[in-house]
Amino acid sequence: MLAPNNPELKPWLEIPLNSDFSIQNLPYGVAKIGEGYRVLSAIGPFAVNLHALHELGYFEGLDLPVGIFAEKYLNPFISLGQGSWRALRQRLSDLLKLDTSYDLPTRKGDWSRVFIEREGLDMQMPVFVRDYTDFYSSEYHAFNVGSMFRDPNNALLPNWKHLPVGYHGRASSIIVSGTPIHRPKGQLKPNDENPVFGPCRLLDFELEMAFIVGKENELGQSVSTAEARDHMFGMVIFNDWSARDIQKWEYVPLGPFLAKSFASSISPWVVTMDALQPFTVEGPKQEPEVLDYLKFEGDKHLDIQLEVDILSEGGSLATVCQSNHKFLYWNIDQQLAHHTVNGCNLHIGDMMASGTISGPEEGTYGSMLEITWRGTKPVIMPDGSERKFIKDGDKVIMKAWAEKDGVRVGFGEVNTKVLPAG
Ligand code: CA
Repeated sequence: MLAPNNPELKPWLEIPLNSDFSIQNLPYGVAKIGEGYRVLSAIGPFAVNLHALHELGYFEGLDLPVGIFAEKYLNPFISLGQGSWRALRQRLSDLLKLDTSYDLPTRKGDWSRVFIEREGLDMQMPVFVRDYTDFYSSEYHAFNVGSMFRDPNNALLPNWKHLPVGYHGRASSIIVSGTPIHRPKGQLKPNDENPVFGPCRLLDFELEMAFIVGKENELGQSVSTAEARDHMFGMVIFNDWSARDIQKWEYVPLGPFLAKSFASSISPWVVTMDALQPFTVEGPKQEPEVLDYLKFEGDKHLDIQLEVDILSEGGSLATVCQSNHKFLYWNIDQQLAHHTVNGCNLHIGDMMASGTISGPEEGTYGSMLEITWRGTKPVIMPDGSERKFIKDGDKVIMKAWAEKDGVRVGFGEVNTKVLPAG
């Protein structure tokens, strides 16, 4: 029996070599099919109907409750714990591998129940998110923003290298890829004038990734960096929409509020921490030395390539950013340890976003604020039009994937169209 991450594994289904959804990936998502919801995995161009596989007896011996894959969210499955996640991952791998010993759905005549074309599926929010926290963990991003709004010699605030800065975001407006958003309205304050009410003029994206909590801690109980990874189920791409002009006027003294709470968009497939494990790499040296509760052992950063494209309403497409999750200063284990160090209890499905993931140089910046340097260096689209920020009718598309030893584990994309203010 080969472990699900083994690069030697090949599927018996024919799938494109560069597919995000290799046999080593096996992510989870939820689609609405007819009147019901189905928990799915994915391989190549297919979604795999886990409810159908369960009904057909392919999960025998795994102790999975009847109906667990007909739920609206992944939360009940996640609640079964890491042992169940890993047993199912191994079983799916064994079912889908080239030399599988299982009697395949094809031969039973149940192919079309089990394997569904992914394209055109009505994908839903994969998890119920009760709480959402947004960190600010990219030093390059914090430095760029600090340089613009203060000065380059004083870009990072004094706490930044001592703790992973974060704030509590709004969970209710996290939406799945494909859901359009309306340009938000709010208070804007032109320089030296009174505030006015109107549509945001400086609408921006933030290229982030988020992890999903998979194991709860009791109120009053902290989770160490060594235990943190076992408290995570998986990750998604996270576009943290931002209204820069609303933000500029409202954020003092309590921080982000309406400039952030109108929408955040996620990719529909949750890639598990187990599938991402082979892509761990060393992070940057942290100087000054961090306090003991933020220390960690081993490689904790993730080598995940990231891309942002803007697609205009007229079909003009520009890639405006190529970055990598490994550029973060603080790793996800430190984020979770810091979040719980005061005894804050996390719930299954809670979402923790990274903060904008910018790299060290032009071309790797994860927001229009940085890409166009506050609008002073507009992006020129292939059709000749300019972008300082995001226009009505634009689609923002974010992609993420990891590659190593000939194995690709990808996230697909999060794709959001901006509609005029309602
Ligand atoms: Ca953010």
